[in-house]
Amino acid sequence: MGDLIMLYQPTPIQEIKGEWNRQQVRLLIKREDMNHPFCSGNKWWKLKYNLEEARTLGHHTLLTFGGAYSNHLYATAAAANELGFKSIGIVRGEEVRPLNATLAFAESCGMKLHFVSRGWYRTKISAESVRELQLLFGDFYLIPEGGTNHLAVKGCTEWAQHLTREVQFTHCCLPVGTGGTMAGLLEGFGADKKVIGFPVLKGAEFLREEVSRFTQRQPHFQFQYHFGGYAKTTPTLLDFMSIIETAHGLTLDQVYTAKMMFGVLDLVYQNFFERNATVLMLHTGGLQGRLRPNDSP
Ligand SMILES: *Cc1c(COP(=O)(O)O)cnc(C)c1O
Repeated sequence: MGDLIMLYQPTPIQEIKGEWNRQQVRLLIKREDMNHPFCSGNKWWKLKYNLEEARTLGHHTLLTFGGAYSNHLYATAAAANELGFKSIGIVRGEEVRPLNATLAFAESCGMKLHFVSRGWYRTKISAESVRELQLLFGDFYLIPEGGTNHLAVKGCTEWAQHLTREVQFTHCCLPVGTGGTMAGLLEGFGADKKVIGFPVLKGAEFLREEVSRFTQRQPHFQFQYHFGGYAKTTPTLLDFMSIIETAHGLTLDQVYTAKMMFGVLDLVYQNFFERNATVLMLHTGGLQGRLRPNDSP
């Protein structure tokens, strides 16, 4: 399957320095947001082996699910377009035209958007719903919501192996949605590295079980940095985001990476990390979902 490789641009690691860091903790951020213009960050790694599998099984169409602002829908549409798959996006909620920027982009990549009620969406992976989708759309390769399955975990395990070869660190911190990325990283790192996940959803205790579906390794979570829940923000978070962006010349998004970075800096401030720890933060990409003046979150 050597021919099925999406564009991948090597990404830098940036050091985050500041007067506020008196704890002698070294802070690095892996700028995986720069790996691909449209299928960025962890989504590149989560899709990699799914795309290979779809091709191996002879499918020509990818079908997946997401909300109207989903990074996963956006990335899947871009990947399908690049590799010559057709794509179908099952979108939660009523169709609103004009489409928001996320869905407009997906459609411009050739993704066929199919809007379903929230009730239907909840049952989307039941055998009956999948049969209904097959009647509507014919044959497809199904990628779950958020892209998390064992092939996504495999891709993130490979990412962890790359990171291990690239730089020395003691802790790896990342924002967590479904936990698929975190599970893959846990599998790929040696026991000398601690992985700390920052869930962006409120009430995310289910993640312990979810992550343990894919790995025996023990995940560590910091549950207190969700800022009200998925896609919720506060003035504090948005101020933090703009201060960091200006001071360090990088771009964050309010849904994932800003919350994780706020959490990490807060933990540094609270002396959570041992002296001489090296903390590698992962910029998981998804900047398409960054607040824009005409979009409400
Ligand atoms: C999807 C996404 C995540 C969450 O990844 P999971 O594997 O679902 O935990 C984190 N950050 C960004 C930017 C994302 O788009």
